[in-house]
Amino acid sequence: MRDFAAERKRMVETQLRRRGISDPRVLAAMESVPRNRFLLDPNDSGAHGDHPISIGSGQTISQPYMVALMTECLHLEGTEHVLEIGTGSGYQAAVLAELSRRVVSVERFAELAERARAVLEDLDYHNVDVFLGDGSLGWPDAAPYDRIIVTAAAPQVAEPWADQLAEGGRLVVPLGDRWGQTLTVVTKRAGELEHARICGCVFVPLVGEHGYAED
Ligand code: SAM
Repeated sequence: MRDFAAERKRMVETQLRRRGISDPRVLAAMESVPRNRFLLDPNDSGAHGDHPISIGSGQTISQPYMVALMTECLHLEGTEHVLEIGTGSGYQAAVLAELSRRVVSVERFAELAERARAVLEDLDYHNVDVFLGDGSLGWPDAAPYDRIIVTAAAPQVAEPWADQLAEGGRLVVPLGDRWGQTLTVVTKRAGELEHARICGCVFVPLVGEHGYAED
């Protein structure tokens, strides 16, 4: 019988804490959210490995370290209204749900959105809404957002995200071309956007009106 809790604890120690993730709330969320439940095969022996994993529709669940780093960059205190672009498996949404008030997550593939919704419901995450659509347009119906996290590679900060980000809000996004990006934190102050570069990264592309064209 697999001890998933022990695997998560080891993942947090060896992949996150040792690489500098230090926010205790982020570490606790990563230890408690059952990553394996968001995979196509919940018994996947690589569920807690140091890498992304295929989730169908040509998409991936991100490496645990990248999920933790992006979450830490959001500076969540528990009261925030968060928009996630790229629901994928729903795993990042669950981590956000542990750390904020409400999460709106947008996915372009119906198959992924439906599966993520079902898993999140099964795990009793009642503060997450998953919507089907083009997240490069944000999700205006529930704006403004205190935080926005984009989990796909974007060519630029899409105008709708900037508009839907609250004053003083933070946006975390991999900015670059299809093959390589820079994880970037964008802060909105007095209506202006300030950019801070975090590190290099590689994400699947954001496909949509303000993203890339379909292959
Ligand atoms: N956050 C996800 C998780 O925890 O599993 C992983 C995200 S995966 C790296 C990127 C996701 O972005 C894919 O599911 C992809 O379909 C989605 N995506 C790409 N372009 C999109 C768009 N314009 N709107 C919404 N989702 C998009």
